[in-house]
Amino acid sequence: MGDPLHLIDRDRQHSWHPYTQAWTSRPPLPIVKGRGVYLYTEDGRKILDGISSWWVNLHGHAHPRLNAALAAQASQLEHVIFAGCTHAPAIDLAERLVEILPPGLTRVFYSDNGSTAVEVALKMAWQYWRNTGRDERRSFITLDRAYHGDTIGAMSVSAASSFTEPFTPLLFPVTRTHEPYCYRCPVGLERSTCQIECLNALESLLRERGATVAAVLVEPMLQGVGGMIVWPAEFLAGVRRLCDSYGTLMIADEVLTGFGRTGRMFACEHASVTPDIICLSKGITAGYLPLGASVATEAIYEAFLSDDRQKTFFHGHSYAANPLACAVGVASLDLFLERDVLARIGRLEQQLREGLEPLRALSIVGDVRVIGGVGAIELDSNPATDASSGYFDEIGPRLAAAFLEQNLLIRPLGRIVYFMPPYVISDDETAWALDTIAKVLRAI
Ligand code: PLP
Repeated sequence: MGDPLHLIDRDRQHSWHPYTQAWTSRPPLPIVKGRGVYLYTEDGRKILDGISSWWVNLHGHAHPRLNAALAAQASQLEHVIFAGCTHAPAIDLAERLVEILPPGLTRVFYSDNGSTAVEVALKMAWQYWRNTGRDERRSFITLDRAYHGDTIGAMSVSAASSFTEPFTPLLFPVTRTHEPYCYRCPVGLERSTCQIECLNALESLLRERGATVAAVLVEPMLQGVGGMIVWPAEFLAGVRRLCDSYGTLMIADEVLTGFGRTGRMFACEHASVTPDIICLSKGITAGYLPLGASVATEAIYEAFLSDDRQKTFFHGHSYAANPLACAVGVASLDLFLERDVLARIGRLEQQLREGLEPLRALSIVGDVRVIGGVGAIELDSNPATDASSGYFDEIGPRLAAAFLEQNLLIRPLGRIVYFMPPYVISDDETAWALDTIAKVLRAI
């Protein structure tokens, strides 16, 4: 750290690796091959990808069907400008998404990663109110411990953290309110007896200044970077209800949760909620290529439909709707149907529960949280302390190194250890990973 040259890890690569140097002070793993749930290193190691390669991989690495879809599309059209031109993979994927998204989300706007999907949603919400003559709606409400990406707008709507601190003067102001973090309840209650009182703070804000709010932005059901915080579905339902009552838009950032990660195709389904805009990326291409989509309702789309150029949504990225990415996205959705992937995630969820719940007996374990294909263990048995400030807690790199010694790739978020494998992981592989996690945690 300090000297940026330290970030140039290998002379022949001359590349900067996000977080790696600061995080582990070890050189990055040279990966030469991926197959199924495994990554293979230059020196012949076979490592189980326990974090789906930054939460993107769904059906395993180098899946033959996805490889074939990619090759077929590459031989036809690798890329074309998506302003004034269109192509079958973009149209097919948009149609397929609209079929499976919560009802009412009908208009797909493509970009090229998760942060840009969020930027697009924020700009779209902001301009929606301009275009409809409600200029006073200019602010955003987001949640404590939120994470929405690393670009300036996405950082602004994320919680203040070590990630955003160096850039604070560049960020625009937003209003933040409680997240439903049951283990560290922001209003000091117990989930078994509470009535989701953590929602009252949002209600108060909307009561006070609802008429000036452009949108409320949430990561439904699972706040990822903030600590793998699993929500009660009632909170999500409550956000939609309050947005309706106070006439503001609801944006759901499903960059992490989309495409089955929480056990439903989209996390909003847990509360049968349709947001006004949903942000998608990561799993949209099953981990193959960068692609983002911000999908809006007809009402939002219509606010931009005009001969008045001032009402145009001026936002476009060079690689928006890349045909290779869209073709793989369509093939991935085929796999979901043909292989009944959601049922597989249901079984994985069960196995994660059975494997992780017993770890509560360890004195270092404070909480165990499981949703869909994600299992998390909070290593802080005192809910009164604040583990979220512990991203740089030395236990994270120490555990990561111990997992890696066992050939399991897991990157704890400070004191939050989580396992989020590709869905193709077998029962035996899951059992091995869960045993390895238990073995490593018992040894610390
Ligand atoms: N939103 C959420 C909920 C995320 O978890 C992430 C990344 O982890 C992003 C947005 C940003 O996505 P990307 O890294 O593709 O920019």
